Amino acid sequence: MEKSATPLEHIRESIARACRIARRKTEDVTLIAISKTKPVEAIMPLLEQGQIHFGENRVQEAQDKWPTLREQFPELRLHCVGQLQSNKAEDAVQLFDCIHSLDRPSLLKALAKAFDKTGRRIPCFVQVNIGTEDQKGGCAIADLPALLEQARDADVPLAGLMCVPPADIEPAPFFALLDKLARDHGLDGRSMGMSGDFETAIQLGATHVRVGTALFGER
Ligand SMILES: *Cc1c(COP(=O)(O)O)cnc(C)c1O
Repeated sequence: MEKSATPLEHIRESIARACRIARRKTEDVTLIAISKTKPVEAIMPLLEQGQIHFGENRVQEAQDKWPTLREQFPELRLHCVGQLQSNKAEDAVQLFDCIHSLDRPSLLKALAKAFDKTGRRIPCFVQVNIGTEDQKGGCAIADLPALLEQARDADVPLAGLMCVPPADIEPAPFFALLDKLARDHGLDGRSMGMSGDFETAIQLGATHVRVGTALFGER
């Protein structure tokens, strides 16, 4: 009898299939396992299966969970995918290897200062409020050119653009818009797609997909 696939194997296979359909290379899509609210015991099996990229949305929670895991798995890479307060920027720069939620000038300044102070310059995705939702994090589309220019002036390494489309409606047009904005601004990275829509996101150019529930179960 065949051994049943783990959730991670299942997601990897889905990513590979989506890449084949899109005629893209599997290695051009990075799977980030979003482990927010999940304990170390739930994360460990993924690390043991070779998963390298993980995402958290709270600095404090990440500080509690990851330093010991890093000692055991020095190759792992930690991504910050949550709204970040400027006063947590230095802690975030110390802890994370990549930020996906740069969305305003005040945070940009705080990150640039933290880079200078710590000597660590980690890549940042600029989060775009792609559905123009009042309550959502992310930079307004109209403010994006200015924020990108400020980031370049401040020597902040830009990884690309990130979005979380509005819930409960077809996400494809929003992924297509993020892809276009990234292209217009000469940026390579597109952090888009979650458990419910990462295959669509890959069709539309995602380079980083952020998958939580489909790997860890409901939160
Ligand atoms: C929680 C979260 C995810 C993962 O969502 P799932 O639907 O559980 O896959 C992805 N991106 C961000 C920014 C998140 O906060």
